Amino acid sequence: MDPKGWRLKLNDGHSIPVLGFGTYAPEEVPKSKATEATELAIDAGFRHIDCAHLYNNEKEVGQAIRSKIEDGTVKRENIFYTSKLWVTFLQPQLVQPALERSLKNLQLDYVDLYIIHSPVALKPGEELLPKDEHGKLMFDTVDLCATWEAMEKCKDAGLTKSIGVSNFNRRQLEMILNKPGLKYKPVCNQVECHPYLTQRKLLDFCKSKDIVLVAYSALGTQRLKQWVDQSSPVLLEDPVLCAMAKKYQRTPALIALRYQLQRGVVVLAKSYNEKRIKENVQVFEFQLTSEDMKVLDDLNRNLRYFSAQMLADHPEYPFCDEY
Ligand code: NAP
Repeated sequence: MDPKGWRLKLNDGHSIPVLGFGTYAPEEVPKSKATEATELAIDAGFRHIDCAHLYNNEKEVGQAIRSKIEDGTVKRENIFYTSKLWVTFLQPQLVQPALERSLKNLQLDYVDLYIIHSPVALKPGEELLPKDEHGKLMFDTVDLCATWEAMEKCKDAGLTKSIGVSNFNRRQLEMILNKPGLKYKPVCNQVECHPYLTQRKLLDFCKSKDIVLVAYSALGTQRLKQWVDQSSPVLLEDPVLCAMAKKYQRTPALIALRYQLQRGVVVLAKSYNEKRIKENVQVFEFQLTSEDMKVLDDLNRNLRYFSAQMLADHPEYPFCDEY
């Protein structure tokens, strides 16, 4: 199956490839690896590329996209590129300049999707994670509905085809959906989602509003020390997942990715490794039975690897609500 053919319709008439390539790597990984990996991903058949200002690699990822356009592998219109508005730019007047800066780094004329990275605003400025003299993150207060109106203007200006959100809970989504004078609904909510955090209720809510759920950390995260509790269970070592992989003669990673596609979720997979990048597009080559889908549903334990506890006392911290 050609992965390029697999797309989901968005509520604004555009469509999104159901398998996306995650580009985030920690600072210690040389930036040139982002170019290399993104080129390999496009060669392997990935057409959806997920990136963000925060990842500090939009120059390198943009370079990969442009080189794959130049060598004739893809056309710009066949690539679906997502960027994210970082939380130090949530004040409405900062939104469009932030997107313009991403476009400049990318050397592209538009992005396909621009999403609010998280509802938790931090103090504006050049620091991505501004801290006070005690090392505490400096919060900001913004009206997320005003941020959303600025996102709508970016779409009207042609800088992005679609707009959406990330890490929003149901209350925050409803706040946008119920905004008086709403011009465009968010097309998606990108959240952590995998067999240990299936997000059933949030997924049902999003589906009821024609919002696509995009799963990040679908393979159980990169388990980076600064973000993830090292004593948490390793998703890809789960015995049930491993047994199922054996049964289908695939890998636990492929089972975890395929699970999302069969429940109508767009799934991201990060890899900077050629063998695993090529492996991950095999997600289109097999199908899980409905019984096995149920077995995977039952692995849910509401385990959030990225709980971002340092933001827990922010008024818009999204993860204290049930969903
Ligand atoms: P992930 O997709 O859960 O992947 C975790 C690890 O799995 C990777 O480090 C990768 O290592 C390994 N892997 C990949 N394919 C594999 C395979 N076939 N078999 C075994 N291992 C495999 O990683 P993630 O970075 O947490 O999430 C993916 C993307 O989602 C990010 O890159 C980013 O684009 C996005 N994201 C968004 C948010 C947000 O707040 N919106 C938060 C987190 C992530 P190798 O590189 O060594 O293959």
